This record gives sequence, C-alpha cells and structure tokens, in this order.
Amino acid sequence: MSASGNKLVIRNIGLILSGRLEEPLLDGDCVVAVDGRITAIGHERELDTDGASTTVDANGVTLAPGLIDSHVHPVIGDYTPRQQQLHWIDSCLHGGVTAMISAGEVHMPGRPRDIVGLKALAIASQRWYENFRPSGVKMHAGAPVLEEGMEEHDFKELADAGVTLLGEVGLGSVKAGETAQQMVKWARKYGIQSTIHTGGPSIPGSGLIDKDVVLEADADIIGHINGGHTALPDDQITCLCENCKRGIEIVHNGNERAGLLAMRTAFELGEPERVILGTDAPAGSGVQPLGILRMIAMLSSLGDIPPETVFCFATGNTARIRDLDCGIIEPGRSADFILIDRAQHAPGKTMLESIHQGNLPGVGMTIIDGTIRSTRSRNTPPATSLPFVVEA
Ligand SMILES: [Zn+2]
Repeated sequence: MSASGNKLVIRNIGLILSGRLEEPLLDGDCVVAVDGRITAIGHERELDTDGASTTVDANGVTLAPGLIDSHVHPVIGDYTPRQQQLHWIDSCLHGGVTAMISAGEVHMPGRPRDIVGLKALAIASQRWYENFRPSGVKMHAGAPVLEEGMEEHDFKELADAGVTLLGEVGLGSVKAGETAQQMVKWARKYGIQSTIHTGGPSIPGSGLIDKDVVLEADADIIGHINGGHTALPDDQITCLCENCKRGIEIVHNGNERAGLLAMRTAFELGEPERVILGTDAPAGSGVQPLGILRMIAMLSSLGDIPPETVFCFATGNTARIRDLDCGIIEPGRSADFILIDRAQHAPGKTMLESIHQGNLPGVGMTIIDGTIRSTRSRNTPPATSLPFVVEA
C-alpha cells in the first residue's frame, strides 16, 4: 500500500489526449495522481491503484489536459467590471478551462497609469490571484501595462516582487516599436514574459499595432494575431508568422478567418508548436465560457486539422511556451484534467469525429491539482456518457 496522502485514480478511460503534438493520443485506460501530480499513465492492470483516496470511473469517456486560456483580462476575484459579470471564471471552468493567463488587468476602473501606481496594481493583482483561485482555476495574473517613462529598475522591482508577465504591449502609452523593444528586453532580462496587442484598436482609446511594430518589439507572444477584434491584412499576418519565431496566439474574440490563416501558415512553415489559443475575454465581445472549446471545434473543422492536434494548441503548446507545469499528460505534471465525451445526439461516430465536424464536446468533469472541481458542465451540451466517483 502506498503511504501517500492524496491519491487519485481515474480508470476506465476510453481515450487519452496527451496535449503533446509529437504524440497526441496515448495508449492506456488509467491515470494515477498523488498529491496533485501525475505519477502514472497506462493500463489499470499494470498500475498501482491501491490506496486511492478518490477513484473516478471515467465510464469510457476521453481524458485530456485541462485547457489553458492564454489571453484573459481579469480584474479581481471572479468578477469583471467589463460586462458587469459575476462568476465568469467559474463559467469557463465549466467550459473545460483550468488555467488562465492575464494579458493585463486593463478593465480595473480608474486603472493607474503613473508608474508607481501601475506597479502597485500589478503586484497586488499577482498576489490576490495567487492567494485566491476562483473555483480552483489557476489564474496567472499581475500583468502591468507599459507606460512611457518606465526604466530598467522598474522591471527589476516588478520581477523581484513576483511579477512574471507583461500586459499586452500597446494597451498603454507605449506604442512605438523602439520603446516597446527596449522595455520587452528589460522584462525578458528579469524573467518577465511579454505579449503584444496585434491589429486594430480594440476599444476607444487603444490604437493600431501593425506588423512593423510587432516585429520591432519582439515580444514573446504575438498576442491575438487574428486581431482583438480587428485583424491586420492577410499579408501582414503571414509575414509575422514567417519573420519571427515567437508564439502565434489565436483568440476567440478575433477574426475567425484570420485565425485560420495564421494556423495554416504555421503548418506550412512546419511550426504548429507555436500556435496557442486564448479567448481575449472579458472584452467588448463579452465572456465566452466555451470559447476555447469553440476555437478547437472551429480550427479543427474549418481548418481540417485532427482535433487531437488542435487540443495541443490549448494545452501542451501553451504550457511549453508559457512555462507552466500543466497542459501535458505525463508523470510529474500537475493533475489538471478534463473528462469529455461526444455531445448527446452529435453527429460523428466518436467524440473526435463530432469535433472534426464542428461540434463541441460535452464536459463531464474537471480536476485541478488532483481535486475534482466540477462534474457535469452546466454550459456545454450534455455529454453522452458521464464519469462518476466510485464510492469506497
Ligand atoms: Zn489586445
């Protein structure tokens, strides 16, 4: 018997999506996690499943890594002032999202734009989401928006205080490529990851960021390459994919046609590992609890890409580019899972086939750090089969 504190066994899994482009489907019907980390994947008869504190019978459904939304705009707790919505993060959990990355807490009413104030907001945001995970969702936040006048020591102070992300470059007063490039370099020097707003203005007050600014700034992620919402012209999108090696982020609240173009270009370049997905919510377009699943169904069906590959964009690719310990089903990683199945009465013989035809799957359970966080989704279409907890 293992003497572990908290052991989760998920058995009777029908299919395992790995989150890794190199091998998107894994052999096995069972996953074991101890104290929130994956310890084993394989066939139940070959694994040590004794002493489980929780056993889940997957009932034949698919296990995938929890989805990661690479681009959100949180403010505080599970409330967004942007559309006056409560519990939007919980709603996204019901859409299979177990981790989110802030692209700036820009919707904070009265957001400070002076340098000491913006640093204070970033540090406070990082802390309050580290200390409080809405419905268990891992919110990586505290992403300062660059303003003119910031100096190298500001980035060092932010990093020393625990800040690891920049808000979208271009949402503040820094819009020139040269200034952005200098600040992105300072951020990188101190271990802070950067992303840049790409495309036309999102809301009144923001501006155009075209390909020349994006290339000059050289942020780690080409944020919403398909616009948020207005995309750049097609030739600029392909130029960005071809002329830098940074992350290609496609968002729900962008231009779908431009998103397909960016994905296809990444495949033509032989670089699908650069593609990551986000919603860019909350925003003028609202909040999309099923946004990441909708992106997966859209890119798979209209782009004609196997769904197990597209799932990697929202899991393993993002985890690798964002340096997160979730997103891939392998020993040592966070036990963040979703259990999903073909939606009731959806066409297609299997869940993957129905997604390839443009349909959403049904979420039957979410698990974060080895703890069950939700059961049958209140937001997705109902799954055909549902996993259940086996009573000891
Ligand atoms: Zn943006």
